[in-house]
Amino acid sequence: MTDQPAAHAQNLSPDTVVVAVGRPAREHDAPVNPPIVLSSTYVGTGTVVDGDRAYGRYSNPTWDPLEEALAALEGATAPGLIFSSGLAAASAALSLIPAGGVLVMPRHSYQGALVMAQELAAKGLFTLRIVDIARKDEVIAALTGAGESAADMLWLESPTNPMLEVADIAVLCRAAHAVGALVVTDNTFSTPLVQKPLELGSDIVLHSVTKYLAGHSDVVLGALVTSNTQLHGQLLHHRSIHGAIAGPFEAWLALRGLRTLALRVERSQASAMELAQRLDAHDGVARVRFPGLPSDPGHVRAAAQMHGFGSVLCIEVAGGADAANAVVDALALWTPATSLGGVESLVERRRRHANEPQSVPENLLRLSVGIENLEDLWADLEQALNGVRAGRGPDAKV
Ligand code: PLP
Repeated sequence: MTDQPAAHAQNLSPDTVVVAVGRPAREHDAPVNPPIVLSSTYVGTGTVVDGDRAYGRYSNPTWDPLEEALAALEGATAPGLIFSSGLAAASAALSLIPAGGVLVMPRHSYQGALVMAQELAAKGLFTLRIVDIARKDEVIAALTGAGESAADMLWLESPTNPMLEVADIAVLCRAAHAVGALVVTDNTFSTPLVQKPLELGSDIVLHSVTKYLAGHSDVVLGALVTSNTQLHGQLLHHRSIHGAIAGPFEAWLALRGLRTLALRVERSQASAMELAQRLDAHDGVARVRFPGLPSDPGHVRAAAQMHGFGSVLCIEVAGGADAANAVVDALALWTPATSLGGVESLVERRRRHANEPQSVPENLLRLSVGIENLEDLWADLEQALNGVRAGRGPDAKV
């Protein structure tokens, strides 16, 4: 599969890498795109040797170009590992914690990952220390254990979902390594075009490929990326034995979506920045959470470790949960749905989920900014906010 562009990926800009890497070898009449290989098993010889495909749970040629592209984007020396979902990838990563070990995790990690960790901890597999990831000293104290056992793994998510708190990734990675803990960073919100956790010291990067990487809300897929060959081997073994593998069609769709990642991220980030500013000035909004705003508590850190500020922003609607729900109901262009990172703009009141931490405000709406025309997105938000604020229902508009 590896061809000229892949071999030179490190010299290419990320916006070229998403287009060029993971193409079939450049031979006469070869297809430009990798094919989808539908086979559960592979022809073998008398002995299975390392590198044999052998069986469809161990490998599939359709995974390879996507795994190659993800590694090139995150700057990893080992291929990425794709999984059936982001949470399947999280499950594999959590399996690296030794029995009876300690996991430090942000209180506003993606709630699915948090619930998984809480359930595993409740079974006694490890101890869970939940922290405010923006408070460096609190995280470092949880890592060292203050008299108790030191941590074995630090889970990072920055910005967090949905509170958009920003961790000082480089400092926390150094503190984790000082006590011998591994660091896993969920980079779903930022994508490797915006933030490179491996460069900042993380051992493993996690993606819900479902979101920006695939980008079209038509795939559920996850990935782990690491340069550490021992960890790579352990995670590959976990995937092969636990079986949370990607379907070939999903892998193919994700690579197809990845080709336009740079354009999508550029457009949606620019729109998110502008919308955050306009929302900040709207009196129907009590608070905007977006690290791109200079007034945001995470702004300075985000500016130092990200290239841009992402395309998810949160607002707290003046008037509480009912007003927030009314705004969602009044929107015509923004789709009320969970998830994020697709071409279409989505909106969700996060506390509608029973599992969402109580510390997430009831009136918080998470906005995933898509690639539609900025003025159309704003017009829809403005009419909904104005309508609810005036208590007269939405103006029919978009
Ligand atoms: N990480 C983050 C930040 C997410 O937002 C999500 C899903 O919303 C996940 C992980 C889980 O990914 P998946 O839904 O692909 O299992």
